[in-house]
Amino acid sequence: MGRDKRIPYPGASSVYGSENGRVNLEVDLRRIMETLWAPWRMTYIEGVDDESPGGCFLCAAGRPELGDGDLVVHRAGAAVSLLNRYPYNPGHLMVAPRSHVGDLAELDPAEMADVASELRLATAVLKRALACDGFNGGWNQGRIAGAGVDRHLHFHLVPRWSGDTNFMAVLADVKVVPEHLEATRRKLLTAFAEAT
Ligand SMILES: [Zn+2]
Repeated sequence: MGRDKRIPYPGASSVYGSENGRVNLEVDLRRIMETLWAPWRMTYIEGVDDESPGGCFLCAAGRPELGDGDLVVHRAGAAVSLLNRYPYNPGHLMVAPRSHVGDLAELDPAEMADVASELRLATAVLKRALACDGFNGGWNQGRIAGAGVDRHLHFHLVPRWSGDTNFMAVLADVKVVPEHLEATRRKLLTAFAEAT
């Protein structure tokens, strides 16, 4: 943490930060609130090799022949949905084109249509399977925007429940145990199968 303690806190009426010892709490608060407003900004993969399609886990997710589909819940046309290994909430999905494209402007329109259709379906499935009350969704394009994987475009879809705020703040630095991830995946596989 640098010496400049004046941290702008978006949405607040004042600027947080001081030299009086409250700094850590305020910075933490800012980080948590940003997380709640824009959970897709989380850097959820560190040091992943996405330089080439061969080393890209999103490419692998889109191609069953690569056998790395342990987080995949649905594939349709040019799109794939998979669970985020480091979710903010249960059911945190990533919806990606199956082709290795990092720039939305360069994505084939027909592939984008499949991705949009998949996002729509995933929203319906999550709502039904997990009874969530709302969603956060978005994407990061480029490292500067916080993308952990910036060579392969992907949209985050994060289910939200009334009253989950405190839960998420706690979860932000905690890895979800794999058994929970697998249980969520089984539930969503069934729900996608029923919905299509
Ligand atoms: Zn890729």
